Amino acid sequence: MADVLTPEQRRLNMSRIRGRDTKPELVLRKSLHAAGFRYRLHARELPGRPDMVFPRFRAAIFVHGCFWHGHDCPMFKMPGTRQEFWSAKISGNRARDQRKAAQLEAAGWRILTVWECSVKGPARRPKDDVAASCADFLRGDEQHGEIAGRWPAKLVE
Ligand SMILES: [Zn+2]
Repeated sequence: MADVLTPEQRRLNMSRIRGRDTKPELVLRKSLHAAGFRYRLHARELPGRPDMVFPRFRAAIFVHGCFWHGHDCPMFKMPGTRQEFWSAKISGNRARDQRKAAQLEAAGWRILTVWECSVKGPARRPKDDVAASCADFLRGDEQHGEIAGRWPAKLVE
């Protein structure tokens, strides 16, 4: 499979994905704030420390890096070296994400996952499109939502 990221992009991804206040997250926050939504950031008392919490809508948003959280999309590309290490690391992250989501849900929260590929990179959606999907989720009553990039189907196996 073709490498979709240059080494430079990957280095940036790997350094940023883990941290808070990543650029995609900041862009999304700005849009939601402009649309009138108010939220709390990185609520430490909640399982998984959601990136944004909207108490009024009983909803939490996670902005997940595709590599770090093992998204099934072309932005996820296993590094060429130390594959066992990365594979174990990412499986562990995914298991933890699921566990934390279950705990949050049990506490009555609705959960929206915004994947990095929806806001950044070749498959990103228009900024307003992502924010509008978030707004729909917040105002709606679905328990789970997920926003991912628009990859051509043949790229996602
Ligand atoms: Zn992705």
